[in-house]
Amino acid sequence: MRFLLAFFLLAANSVQAQVDSAFYRKVFNEALGNGQAYARLGELCKTVGSRLSGSPQAEKAVVWGKQMLSSYGFDSVYLQAVMVPRWERSKTESLTFSSAVFNVAIKGEKLQDYNCEAFEELPLKPAKKHKIPAVALGGSIGTNGKLTAGLVSVHSDAQLDSMGRASALKGKIVLLNRPFPESYLNTFKAYGACVVQRVNGASKAAAYGAVGVLVRSMSNRCDLHAHTGVMIYDEKQQKIPAMAVATAVANLLDKLSHQDPNLSVSMELGCQTLPDAPSANVVAETRGSKYPGSIIAFGGHFDSWDQGEGAHDDGAGCMHAFEALRLLKAIGYQPRHTLRCVWWMNEENGLRGANEYASIAAKSNEKHIAALESDRGGFTPRGFGVDSVFLPKVMKYKSLLDAYGIGEIEKGGGGADIGPIRKSNPNAVLVGFIPDSQRYFDVHHSETDVFESVNKRELHLGAAAVAVMIVILDQELD
Ligand SMILES: [Zn+2]
Repeated sequence: MRFLLAFFLLAANSVQAQVDSAFYRKVFNEALGNGQAYARLGELCKTVGSRLSGSPQAEKAVVWGKQMLSSYGFDSVYLQAVMVPRWERSKTESLTFSSAVFNVAIKGEKLQDYNCEAFEELPLKPAKKHKIPAVALGGSIGTNGKLTAGLVSVHSDAQLDSMGRASALKGKIVLLNRPFPESYLNTFKAYGACVVQRVNGASKAAAYGAVGVLVRSMSNRCDLHAHTGVMIYDEKQQKIPAMAVATAVANLLDKLSHQDPNLSVSMELGCQTLPDAPSANVVAETRGSKYPGSIIAFGGHFDSWDQGEGAHDDGAGCMHAFEALRLLKAIGYQPRHTLRCVWWMNEENGLRGANEYASIAAKSNEKHIAALESDRGGFTPRGFGVDSVFLPKVMKYKSLLDAYGIGEIEKGGGGADIGPIRKSNPNAVLVGFIPDSQRYFDVHHSETDVFESVNKRELHLGAAAVAVMIVILDQELD
């Protein structure tokens, strides 16, 4: 009898006891020994490639994603239809400059990292028009032929305003050249300090009569790869075309513009905005055993920019979520709440997928107790940003998390795709996955964000980290 009682007590405690060091070991063993995320990310990157919202590749990705997730036998896999904006780049896309004072050429495709001197001076004659690495920013209008104008370089909002007020930007193409503050430890903070010039810079310059903008790429790295990203027009201002230029190009143009007051650049862009197109969020679920109507959603965005393969941004986040769901199923974890992996469509230039997801959840009275987002790349996991109300609960697991190098717990857990869930679930706990940030902006939104830039072990460690955080949420919330 005493033996039986002890047995029942043990059984009753087993759910709590699951989240111990042996449980963590199981999750990480499965991820490192039998991880699937890397192979599936490779398929996505190499058979589909980039996935700009509304593009044929994005639709191909949705079909691939549903099939792939279905092959793992989760309780349910389904699509949520959503209309998305459709902006399309054109093959007509070039930036050239000409100068009576300088004649320079790009040294070669491969830039030496250590000096950032991508260009060499050539004899002045014959002078050439030089094509330089640049790409349209997402959302930009086209140029309708060539747009040629003098170039003015500015380094700050204050300088933009003072030159604008002095009418120095009228009729000019403006280089918005504020670099990442390199002293910031977290590169996302550096991005946050500069990205406004990419998103809103064109309209700010247009207000002072500029006819086009070139935006310094949002990157710590000095190289010849241009990084695109969304730009948004202020409807009150004249719409002017906008391109991103590689950081090394921004340095060069800045230098030349100061030495040659007659430096001119020509932009030619055929990009355009087409009517909205049908697309979908992709969802996979494991039903909860105790509270099937309460949902823990976790995922990343399935769309990407059209440069590279969207490997880190955000193929990695989508694979983290899929793999976390798979890991927990593989080790036989019975979730109390419904675990829902979501690949949101259109984070990059519209957030339609996330908004539609939240509105469907609101209409069907779905209760979300928590949501986690991974949109910082597939690098070595460090920890999580967590809503302050939930911080004390997570801190109970601090030593377990520290043992796997994922114990950096910060206050604040929002994310673009999970934010809208709060509208109908104000108490949902939001968590952001935080990997190492040092290399993310080397590849972000550029042609270098390809599968080869993702490390298998780093990706699988990230998925395991997401899985253990989901279990903490599942255990600690009711
Ligand atoms: Zn992203």
